[in-house]
Amino acid sequence: MYVCQLSFECELDIELDEAQQAISMLLDQYRYNGQIIGREFPLTLIDDKFEITFVCPEQDSLAVKYNNEFVLKAFEQLKQLGLSTPKFTLKGLECQSDFSDTCDQPKALVLYSTYVQSCSPLRCLEHFAPVPLYKMPEQVRKPLIKWQESQAACDQLQMNEITEIEPFAIEQLSQLDSELLQNGNAIAKTIQQQINIPVYQYLYRVGGESLEAEQQRLCPSCDGDWLFTKDDQKEPLHGLFDFKCDECLLVSNVSWDWQ
Ligand SMILES: [Zn+2]
Ligand SMILES: [Zn+2]
Repeated sequence: MYVCQLSFECELDIELDEAQQAISMLLDQYRYNGQIIGREFPLTLIDDKFEITFVCPEQDSLAVKYNNEFVLKAFEQLKQLGLSTPKFTLKGLECQSDFSDTCDQPKALVLYSTYVQSCSPLRCLEHFAPVPLYKMPEQVRKPLIKWQESQAACDQLQMNEITEIEPFAIEQLSQLDSELLQNGNAIAKTIQQQINIPVYQYLYRVGGESLEAEQQRLCPSCDGDWLFTKDDQKEPLHGLFDFKCDECLLVSNVSWDWQ
């Protein structure tokens, strides 16, 4: 991913609050469209110039061709307020994040995120690299961001062992019929219908009785054999997924308690 900067000159005398609100609106719309990543963006005002720094999945994420109508509306509002057309600067490579997937069209995707992850929650199943959301059908982009926020909240609660609600958080992350995973499933189905790419879902797994019992687990949807690490495929897929059902499009791990 790449660190980028936008700067806006104030061309008219404008209220600071109004300008800040309009810039926040643009950043929200960019974020919901997958063009910028994360939630907090340092905004500075020096003399008559606002500067915002943020992270993009690709060098050309802010190219006009990726803008949707909401991004365009936010730009229109900035213009009406008297802010200049922004100047874009590519600052450099963001060293700590994953590179976006380079497939023209991934063969399969997986919906996977964690409490620390801010990149796209959709990854190419072959390379496990995040796929920028503006390359997905428009109607799933914002729902995916909202899904990722909820997923991160549940994952954070169970990581921090907030005992009173931990069981509920784990249920959301691991049970196929939970609201979170049902929402994810609806998004996955839309993608499949629109662009004909299968989308796997990840089922988080903790607990269980023993390693042996874990390895004998069956797919929770079809009761089929879904162990990925049997035979000569000893390594979990991408070091994470011990189970994979190609019928039900599900992946999972041997319980974290038995690894
Ligand atoms: Zn790929
Ligand atoms: Zn299955």
